[in-house]
Amino acid sequence: MLKNRDQYGRWWDLAWNTHYGCTKCSPGCDNCWAETLTVRLAAPNAHPSDMPPARADLARRTRPAIQESVEGGFEWSGDLVFAEPRLDIPLRRKTPTVWFVSNMSDLFHPHISDDWRDRMHAVMALCPQHRFVVCTKRADAMANYYMAGGRDVSVSVAMRRAGGEHMVPGQWPLRNVIHMVTCCNQGEVDHNVPLLLKTPSACRAVNVEPLLGSVILGTWLEQLDWVLIGDESGPHRRRPPNGTAEAIAPACYSYRVPLYVKQLQAPHPKRRVIHDNEDLLWPRWAVREYPEVLHGAK
Ligand code: SF4
Repeated sequence: MLKNRDQYGRWWDLAWNTHYGCTKCSPGCDNCWAETLTVRLAAPNAHPSDMPPARADLARRTRPAIQESVEGGFEWSGDLVFAEPRLDIPLRRKTPTVWFVSNMSDLFHPHISDDWRDRMHAVMALCPQHRFVVCTKRADAMANYYMAGGRDVSVSVAMRRAGGEHMVPGQWPLRNVIHMVTCCNQGEVDHNVPLLLKTPSACRAVNVEPLLGSVILGTWLEQLDWVLIGDESGPHRRRPPNGTAEAIAPACYSYRVPLYVKQLQAPHPKRRVIHDNEDLLWPRWAVREYPEVLHGAK
């Protein structure tokens, strides 16, 4: 397990990306961090020749995931780039690790086949030493994938193809996988949380990020295992209305749901001076709680 995870304001140790690229599907995507990173890496003016060879190769391969925008910059093209050699990365790592699955894309993007998802789940099933966080904005696609009949059978077949044993009875849904939906406002909570609750899962989490409006989780909290909140960072960040975060935290406490506050109204990383009259919630709100499935992984 990597040290100082909390110090960097992240709840995961390593990212596992087997595909790159996405399509914006929510107001929360407007300042997509993965798009910015991919553009920085793969845009023609990124000078891949100055990069280390492995990074330059990745830059070349991910270029189809971006295209020129009408504003003159670059943006997601909507095409996805798949990297088959990265499928078995968790299998090669023995140290227990919390993996963020597909943080440069969305595992439930419509261009990803169920066969590819089965292969990724086979790897997760074959790595009980790890924890995997499957995070999506596409809760309907996630529910459809897990609720399709025979999913455990197709993942079991993929486990054999990956060189392991078949799934054992009772292993599905996988105990080492956390299913997380991301919502940025009440409309998305109302749509995504019921779908998450329908999804067969051993651990369900709601990531309210970026927090763009007031959100009430209400009695859904009875069935949730983890809540994360955070606002945007970066030069174009949007502020949530005052009091938004303060309304979520007591509800989590009263339902005894672990809460992880990623960041809230933190000063811009390059700002050296904080003015006295600024109502900064950070670091007063440094709450870093984890669900039970991650306790052994902390
Ligand atoms: S779903 Fe995630 S990766 Fe895809 S565009 Fe939105 S924020 Fe970016």
